[in-house]
Amino acid sequence: MKVIEKIREASKEEHKVLFSFEFFPPRTHDGVDKLFEQLDHMSIHSPAYWDITWRDSAAKLSLEMANVMQNLFSIETMMHLTCTKMPIEEIDHALDTIKSQGIHNVLALRGDPPLGQDKFVKTEGGFECALDLVTHIRNKYGDYFGITIAGYPEAHPDVPRKDDGLPTLEGYQNDLAYLKKKVDAGGDLIITQLFFDTDIFLKFVNDCRQIGITCPIVPGILPINDYRGFLKMTSLCKTKIPTEITAALKPIKDNDEAVRGYGIHLVTEMCKKILAHGIKTLHFYTVNKEKPTLSILMNLGLISEIKISRPLTEKREDFVRISSELKKMLRR
Ligand code: FAD
Repeated sequence: MKVIEKIREASKEEHKVLFSFEFFPPRTHDGVDKLFEQLDHMSIHSPAYWDITWRDSAAKLSLEMANVMQNLFSIETMMHLTCTKMPIEEIDHALDTIKSQGIHNVLALRGDPPLGQDKFVKTEGGFECALDLVTHIRNKYGDYFGITIAGYPEAHPDVPRKDDGLPTLEGYQNDLAYLKKKVDAGGDLIITQLFFDTDIFLKFVNDCRQIGITCPIVPGILPINDYRGFLKMTSLCKTKIPTEITAALKPIKDNDEAVRGYGIHLVTEMCKKILAHGIKTLHFYTVNKEKPTLSILMNLGLISEIKISRPLTEKREDFVRISSELKKMLRR
């Protein structure tokens, strides 16, 4: 089923809240085992869908993980797909593969420049930007896929900034106008970049509505796992950090447990505010860690218990076989 259909269906129920989890393909053998355990633990809480990110150097892994997530765990899966180093034949191969696995959801992205390059350069025979990819998917695959696109409450990091770090008005407006083109080309759902100023997100939603973007806009929520990771992600995405968050984090920055605890409290409050504004789907960037996301969901009353000790019992043979295949892929 398409995620957009699930969201539309849920919107008919007044108090229904949906949540989803994002994971990235593991980089190590240990990461494979941990991810399988996390998927097992988190699947118990019945996310509306979950998704697997795309790494141009690990395409096969994303395809295989998408298959596992959709068909072994039976949870609606969305696969991210980028244009980085992807000629059209490879893009179609990826889309045909997930289609044959019964996956109906793709997050269509341009992608970042490959490691070591500053600027995104179109691959020969590939696409320039997400707009081209969305157009291609709609032209070639019709309505088969639900197509999600990325939206940037603080504009894409490449958009020119003022001294305060926020995008210029012109840059922000151009970014929004481009987002509308992605929707008009066939994007039916927007997931946003992470943010820590909820007002910026709410303004973004309002600004999108003003220019005629009507599709659901799902906030991308990053639970804070540790101070270094938080700084890395927010500087990469050029995210504004409200002064009170910096002030609260600095004195505890070397105490991971305290940082996580504060992050859980902070993000819970952010989510409460978002939900109070009528936005009823939350998308969690789990960074392959289960506890902070599940704690936030518990605080929000959206799940009742953190069940983290269940061993991988169901379908154990399948898990063992597939995880050893994934590990072989990592070896190559
Ligand atoms: P685009 O939408 O094509 O463009 C990005 C920006 O460039 C636009 O916002 C706009 O400002 C400008 N732009 C581009 N083309 C035009 C145009 N024709 N006219 C005007 N302006 C234009 N990266 C990964 O490698 N793997 C992932 O799995 C992944 N998942 C992500 C998930 C989400 C929800 C988000 C928000 C980001 C994700 N990223 C991922 C990061 C993403 O690849 C980068 O942010 C990348 O730099 C831009 O991708 P995009 O699809 O937003 O690009």
